[in-house]
Amino acid sequence: NKFEQLGLNESLLQAVADMGFETPSDVQEKAIPLLLADEIDIVALAQTGTGKTAAFGFPLIQKLDVNNRNTQALILAPTRELCLQITNEIKHYSKYVKGLHTVAVYGGASITEQAREVRKGAQIIVATPGRMQDMINRGLVNITTINYCVLDEADEMLNMGFYEDIVSILSTTPDEKKTWLFSATMPAEVARIAKEFMSDPTEITV
Ligand code: AMP
Repeated sequence: NKFEQLGLNESLLQAVADMGFETPSDVQEKAIPLLLADEIDIVALAQTGTGKTAAFGFPLIQKLDVNNRNTQALILAPTRELCLQITNEIKHYSKYVKGLHTVAVYGGASITEQAREVRKGAQIIVATPGRMQDMINRGLVNITTINYCVLDEADEMLNMGFYEDIVSILSTTPDEKKTWLFSATMPAEVARIAKEFMSDPTEITV
C-alpha cells in the first residue's frame, strides 16, 4: 500500500484502509509528503474529483494538536454543499483520531447553533466565506489562533464574488499561518490572492 510511504501515521492509515483507498491519487502523492515534512505555503492546481480533500485533509489532521481545543485550521470553500462534503470526508479520515473536532459553518442554517458547536472547541472549521465573515463580525469565532488556512476551489470562490470576504477573513488570521490554496484554474484574481497573501508558495500541478 503506497499510502504507507507518504508519512501518514497509524490512525490515518487505518482510516485509509477502512475507506478502501488502495493507491494515493496524483495530488495526494505530491502534496501529502510535502505538507507533512515542511511548514510551507502551496498553490495546487487540481480539479474536483482528484482526491484533493484528502491531499490537504490528511496532513492537516496529522499536524493538529488534539489536546488543544483552539481553532487551528480554517478551510474556506465556495458552497454549503462543498463545505458539508469536506467536513464529512475529514470526519471519516479522522475517525481514529480521538479529540479532533470539525465544524461546518455555512449560510442558510442557524448561526447560533454553528457558533455553539465552534465554542465547544473545534480544531477545524470548514466554512463558506460569507457566513465566516458574518461570524467574525458578530464575535462568534476566533481565528487568531489558526496555524493553517486552506482555500479550496479558490477560483470558484472568487467567481462567486467572495474576494472581499476572503481578504477580510485572511486579515484576521496570524501572518505566520501557512496557506494551502487549491484551484482548478489560475485566473488573475487567484494569482493575486497567492501573491498578496502567501509567501513563496510551492506549486503543485496534477
Ligand atoms: P475529492 O476530489 O477530494 O472531492 O475526492 C473525490 C472522491 O474520491 C471522494 O469520494 C473521496 O472519498 C475519493 N478518494 C479520495 N482519494 C482516494 C483514493 N486515493 N483512492 C480512492 N478514492 C479516493
